[in-house]
Amino acid sequence: MHKKLFIPGPVEVEKDVLEKLATPMIGHRTKDASDLQREISDKLRKVFHTKEEILLSTSSGTGLLEGAIRSTTAKRAIVISIGAFGKRWYEIAKANNVEADLYEVPWGEAVKAEEVDKLLSTGKYDSIFITHNETSTGVMNPVEEISKVIKKYKDVVWSLDCVSSMAGTKIEVDKLGVDVCITSTQKALALPPGMSICSFSKKAIERAEKVTNRGYYFDLLALYKYLKKKDYQYPSTPSLPHMFALNYRLDKILEEGLENRYKRHKEMAEYVRNWAKENFKLYANENFLSNTLTNVENTKNIDVKDLNKKLGERGFAISDGYGNLKNKTFRIAHMGETTLEDIKELIENINDILGI
Ligand SMILES: *Cc1c(COP(=O)(O)O)cnc(C)c1O
Repeated sequence: MHKKLFIPGPVEVEKDVLEKLATPMIGHRTKDASDLQREISDKLRKVFHTKEEILLSTSSGTGLLEGAIRSTTAKRAIVISIGAFGKRWYEIAKANNVEADLYEVPWGEAVKAEEVDKLLSTGKYDSIFITHNETSTGVMNPVEEISKVIKKYKDVVWSLDCVSSMAGTKIEVDKLGVDVCITSTQKALALPPGMSICSFSKKAIERAEKVTNRGYYFDLLALYKYLKKKDYQYPSTPSLPHMFALNYRLDKILEEGLENRYKRHKEMAEYVRNWAKENFKLYANENFLSNTLTNVENTKNIDVKDLNKKLGERGFAISDGYGNLKNKTFRIAHMGETTLEDIKELIENINDILGI
């Protein structure tokens, strides 16, 4: 039996979208391929609220996390970690010989704008890396306040990991001044895994020009230059099936309307939070809760694995806590095409299984 996914990626994908992956192939050096990319870019600019260029990468989001830190750090990077994915960004820097420092915030908390200010005021850094929505903890960082601080530092290039939040909550890339905004297909965009997307600002381009060792496959400047010179094509063969499906998905997203989409996510989040507060406890600081997933503290000491097994028999799947949080928390994703009705059905089944 298929299990309806309420895990923070991959998420449920509807049949009509899946069918787009089976579109007959086209050559990746054809006008059709160029037109496809141009259409996708125009639509993605709306979702990202940006006028900057859009780059696709045939890799999961981690590939672009690597591309961003390697392509935009000429001097030294500061990586702010509020959980597992922030930490991963620092590890990526180390693995690539990028000079970087890690600033860790306790799990469940967000980073404060003052902390960012203090770090950047040292003058040590020319790039900063922040997770917007930390999927391991269920925290969403206050990017509006953080943005005001980062804007004071004209030489600092800002990359933001929006892998689990883009298209599920409003992120105004240009207004915030984010230079490289990254997401993956398998989260709030509700597509199969295998492709990632980023915006690439003029400031990021200028910086990348000064970085000598940007790698090869994830060299964002090389992707950008090729796109510009070769009529919206890529240096290597992109996942055309994902591009067909993405183009179609973006039509559906814009048809729903971005504001409606954000509202739907907010409503689902509020429903799950209220349920969690009544029956358990929220893991994350309540002032910084994610709109796309909820991390529930397992105060009843239930067997999460067993709950998931029983849910599985009924055709649902949720997530255990991340890493060390296994069985200490469990996570319910409410992103992509999931509706409030789906969430209510899931919660009813959890209540029934747990007898609460
Ligand atoms: C899922 C996730 C990633 C990793 O993305 P992949 O597409 O699996 O490489 C990175 N950051 C965050 C916040 C995520 O939720």
